[in-house]
Amino acid sequence: MHADLDRIAARVHAGERLSRTDATTLWHHASDDDLADLASVSRGRFHPPGKATWVVMAILNYTNVCVARCDYCAFYKFPGESGTYLLSFEEICRRVDGVIALGGQLIGFNGGFHPDLSVDDYCNLFRRLHEHYGERVAFYEMTIAEFMFVTKRSHMSYAESAQRFKEAGTRWITGGGAEILTDAFRLRHSPGKYRVEDYYDAQRAVLDAGIGSTATMVIGFDEDFEERMEHLERLRSFQDEVRGRLASFLCWTYKPGNTELGGGEVPTREYLRHLAICRLFLDNIVNIRASVLTRNEDAMLGLRFGANDFDLPTEDEVTQKAGATVSLDFDRILAAARRAGFEPVQRQPFARPAGYP
Ligand code: SF4
Repeated sequence: MHADLDRIAARVHAGERLSRTDATTLWHHASDDDLADLASVSRGRFHPPGKATWVVMAILNYTNVCVARCDYCAFYKFPGESGTYLLSFEEICRRVDGVIALGGQLIGFNGGFHPDLSVDDYCNLFRRLHEHYGERVAFYEMTIAEFMFVTKRSHMSYAESAQRFKEAGTRWITGGGAEILTDAFRLRHSPGKYRVEDYYDAQRAVLDAGIGSTATMVIGFDEDFEERMEHLERLRSFQDEVRGRLASFLCWTYKPGNTELGGGEVPTREYLRHLAICRLFLDNIVNIRASVLTRNEDAMLGLRFGANDFDLPTEDEVTQKAGATVSLDFDRILAAARRAGFEPVQRQPFARPAGYP
């Protein structure tokens, strides 16, 4: 047993912040059971033991047109290719109605970097959607990645654009599209997307406009543990800077099917250990979420490794094109949560943390 494990465990029990060195020691030397137990201690600072919350959610992909060309993406079509689409307002409403009929409470929009769409186009869409649906369903209106792209295309500052979205009734611009937040990763796999400082500048502007946001991560490309820690360390200091305003953290795993990058999938054990490290290291993020979309029932084991919440997804073309399977047999997932020792409790979409204007 590594000499530092007892000292690190004592820090966790005392609620003290872990260093990157501590996290690295845990990753390499702690047993699975020890990691699960310590992550559960951290989880217990925010959530009651033996309970986990869930929400039925769809990712609605309104366009697959994208100019970013990320090599890990099986979803996009370059403008002019066959098979491109951009959903109309009526088509979007038909899809939203279908999700509501399945018990859906939350719709997350996620599309490509469409070169013909402007901030006004998105704002008009969101305004109409809010008028049409009122409080019947909640929306994650877009991701930071899309926000950055369309803001630049519209020749606006992030602050100006965020204010426009706020006035259009936008409540959430999530941290989606983060994958691994290091510039080295971005240069290797999606040089046309953004740089890390740019990502956080955009997210800061969104939060400062009073729009909610979240944190995300995807593991399993070609990144090593140090690169994952660089992502987590930058995220933790940003969450300190914005005084805890990111509502949740979701890590899912790369699906390699039909991608240019290819490769294999992260084994469940590695996913669970990573989830525990995230819970332990991200001591300033209350909600750590497990990914049913990419891990199916195995995601419920994540509740023992620090996660407190999960989605029951009804669709997401981006991950499904790359090999994810979506099942509407929600009872099977909920039964897996119970087998893992947690009573699943349906929740409303997250409220935005205190501190919003
Ligand atoms: S991951 Fe997103 S930004 Fe990258 S190519 Fe796919 S749709 Fe475009």
